[in-house]
Amino acid sequence: MKKDIVSYSCEELRGEIEKLGEKAYRSRQIYAWLHEKGAVSFDEMTNLSRGLRERLSQEYMIVRLELAAHQISRKDPTEKFLFELSDGNQIESVLMKYNYGNSVCISSQVGCRMGCRFCASTIDGLERNLTVSEMLRQVYEIQRISGERVSNIVVMGTGEPLDNYDNFVKFVHMVSDEHGLHISQRNITASTCGIVPNMRRLAEEGLQITLALSLHGSSQEKRRRLMPVANKYKLSEVMEACDYYFQKTGRRVTFEYSLVEGVNDKDEDVKELTVLLKKRKCHLNLIPVNPVRERNFKKPDSKKALEFENKLEKNGINVTIRRERGSDIDGACGQLRRRFAVEKKES
Ligand code: SAH
Repeated sequence: MKKDIVSYSCEELRGEIEKLGEKAYRSRQIYAWLHEKGAVSFDEMTNLSRGLRERLSQEYMIVRLELAAHQISRKDPTEKFLFELSDGNQIESVLMKYNYGNSVCISSQVGCRMGCRFCASTIDGLERNLTVSEMLRQVYEIQRISGERVSNIVVMGTGEPLDNYDNFVKFVHMVSDEHGLHISQRNITASTCGIVPNMRRLAEEGLQITLALSLHGSSQEKRRRLMPVANKYKLSEVMEACDYYFQKTGRRVTFEYSLVEGVNDKDEDVKELTVLLKKRKCHLNLIPVNPVRERNFKKPDSKKALEFENKLEKNGINVTIRRERGSDIDGACGQLRRRFAVEKKES
């Protein structure tokens, strides 16, 4: 089995290349080919000798993602990519173009074992973790296919990044490395359902990324109804871990709250949310829940969602409603991958 060269950090690659009897600057050239230019074959690496390119291709492979589907929204500048991995599993990633730059939403796992009730990604459970190279290549392939430069990354696709902790942290280091894409860590956001020990560990990594916490319920009891992970980690512990993250990194935590009609969109929720967030320096993102075929959750109508937002704002909470993107292209959370899986089964 050839070694996965795209998963090697700069230092690791140097070690590998030195073992081949090559000078250190060669490894920097190779790293730049792989991570700055997104090379897909050793033949492209024209500043290396043919002999070295051959040796590399005998020992190493460059992981690729095959484009299985590409959907471009007609409503807004959003594109969705379904990628096939070398083992046949499929993952999805999204490109969203904004005035300030291009943002890519990537997956961190094939499937997910967290079981959030409204989420399409978790229906068949966790298949496996993504490797570092599979996370990186989502960004590289999107740049290559779209011809756009990516400036922001959100790890909010399928999977729980803190359930694939080591690969996720290495991904952040590599994608922000000056010898690679050099994306500022401040432009990277990772969303977690609230795995407390790993949130605390992340706070101590010395990273500058934004942590987003999927809150979805304003009390322990309400959160538990939507998110099984709340059985393991209480809301109070999760909030303490968020405070710790802010204290250690100076980065404000973003709270995400999927609004579900009749479940968590009441006045009582406004009150509880205010108590929970008022004393914290944070931002609250409201996401009207995206209906998933297998689940019967509805989103509140836009008037109701606006009222919910206004009430929180009046209470002094820093809050926005996330504008829906790509709703015509299965934009939400695991829905494209899901549709393909279902179609495969049904055909
Ligand atoms: N596992 C991580 C990241 C992946 S999901 C987490 O839980 O945060 C990214 C965000 O989308 C999370 O806040 C998640 O709860 C939310 N989400 C998932 N399915 C959704 C749906 N159908 N409608 C609205 N938000 C959803």
